Amino acid sequence: MEFETFAARAADVEATDADLAVVDRVADLLAAAGGDLAVVARFVQGRVFPAHSETKLDIGPRLCYEALARAASTNVTADDVERRLAETGDVGEVAASLDLGGQAGLGAFASGGDGGALTVVDVYEDLAALAAAAGDGSQDEKVTLLFGLFNRCSGEEARYLARLVLGEMRIGVGEGTVRDAVAAAFDVDVDAVERALQVSNDYGLVAETARDDGEDGLDAMHLEVGRPVQAMLAQAGTVTDALEEWEAAAVETKFDGARVQVHWDGEAVSLYSRNMEDVTAALPELVEFVEANVDAPVILDGEAVAVDDDGSPLPFQEILKRFRRKHDVAAMRDEVRVRLHAFDCLHAAGEDLLAAPFQDRHERLAAVVDDADAVSDLLVTADPDEIAAFEDRALEAGHEGIMLKDPDAAYTPGDRGKHWLKRKPDVETLDLVVTGAEWGEGRRASLFGTFLLAARDEDAGEFETIGKVATGVTDEQLADLTALLEPHVRGEDGQDVDVEPAVVFEVGYEEIQASPTYSSGYALRFPRFVTVREDKAPEAADTIERVERLAGEQG
Ligand code: AMP
Repeated sequence: MEFETFAARAADVEATDADLAVVDRVADLLAAAGGDLAVVARFVQGRVFPAHSETKLDIGPRLCYEALARAASTNVTADDVERRLAETGDVGEVAASLDLGGQAGLGAFASGGDGGALTVVDVYEDLAALAAAAGDGSQDEKVTLLFGLFNRCSGEEARYLARLVLGEMRIGVGEGTVRDAVAAAFDVDVDAVERALQVSNDYGLVAETARDDGEDGLDAMHLEVGRPVQAMLAQAGTVTDALEEWEAAAVETKFDGARVQVHWDGEAVSLYSRNMEDVTAALPELVEFVEANVDAPVILDGEAVAVDDDGSPLPFQEILKRFRRKHDVAAMRDEVRVRLHAFDCLHAAGEDLLAAPFQDRHERLAAVVDDADAVSDLLVTADPDEIAAFEDRALEAGHEGIMLKDPDAAYTPGDRGKHWLKRKPDVETLDLVVTGAEWGEGRRASLFGTFLLAARDEDAGEFETIGKVATGVTDEQLADLTALLEPHVRGEDGQDVDVEPAVVFEVGYEEIQASPTYSSGYALRFPRFVTVREDKAPEAADTIERVERLAGEQG
């Protein structure tokens, strides 16, 4: 396809508003692309190389302005280009406004142009050569190559070339558009296209496969060990959200480190960042760990965490000293130690697991990794108290918090969906008076396990109940709390204990609800024990007025 045709169609797409019409036009473009389909499918969304590829153009805006200035036949400098850009805000507009071409002589045809029409493949090949330029003098080489391309461009071609080079295509074509357009152009199911994109991360390859081999071809595409997959992402959410949506929640520690995708084909390990950058060389101990502890070929998802000598997690800043490091890796390795916490398994022993339920994937994960410490602990429960206890332990161990996952959900690469929730920290806490307790059960029969909480009614000078907190804390902590409250016990009725207002707990919660269950008229959702406010007398505890106000502010 001539680049001129591509540019004209890109302009047409850019001028189109309605989403469906955009999909139609992109589908027409793909159908007309012939042998250049793979390149066109990427160019139209502003990509030069496949998403999984490590290859980058690595050309700054300034070099691009220089190449443009050189290709302009009138006396234009890179500064002029920059100035015009400041006025228009669109490098495409500036490129289109220059009188390009006509710069014969050395370099003008550095791209190998024979004077014939520029094709999309010419553009691709020159940009690939540009990306490959390295070492001394490579910047000059890049400018020369780009100049050669601009010199062969009309204004309209230059508009889209400049935008492509700077990663600013902006014609309103996102990944979803290309997916829908591939399905429409080659009459295949959009879900099959989506799945193929997830496993391959390559729009060019998927478009060609859809055209040449149809749905069967798409279905036959698989994950490849060594080719990174987009990471599944999380939303912020609450325990309440999780338990309302799902029958039970899969609860995991939220590790405070850097996302890492582990590929092991039985011979070599490669590690990728959340953005699919290859970070293998920076993390030799993870490579060694995988070689020693994983037998089958796998693709694992997890977090690389910096740890101290005891294996306790260090703050996020520490892992950054290691994560993309190119120099002094061996020396830094002694200074900042790194551990793997794997939490998902995308592929094991030749089998793709993206479509399997999370809980099954986690079982596979535990089965393929020999060292249980490197596999996230998983609790599947519908009991908020168990979740609170899990969270307390995670925080106590120095981790960031917890993740809540839908145990039945598939792994959806690149998706920030509702199936993974990072629990929001409590925004507010309340200082509430303990007015009752319940004896624990079994092993904890001699300890208080649940505490009744109350807020102060200032006018009446009384305390009105608002909820119960079942602390997820250790036996030791429960023993301390029991000892603290026992002197204030006024009476007992079976499990229930009446306690005079004396002790104040700081309590976190997710939400305040109006509720007839408690005498204050309110209830806390997902209340969690934070600490004993030894410094506060009951008279200084929070009032129902404040509870009311906080409830109103929730919106
Ligand atoms: P955030 O970066 O705040 O959006 O939180 C999501 C990130 O938490 C993920 O991209 C992971 O890097 C990280 N993370 C830590 N622990 C887990 C876990 N158990 N499951 C999923 N993601 C986790």
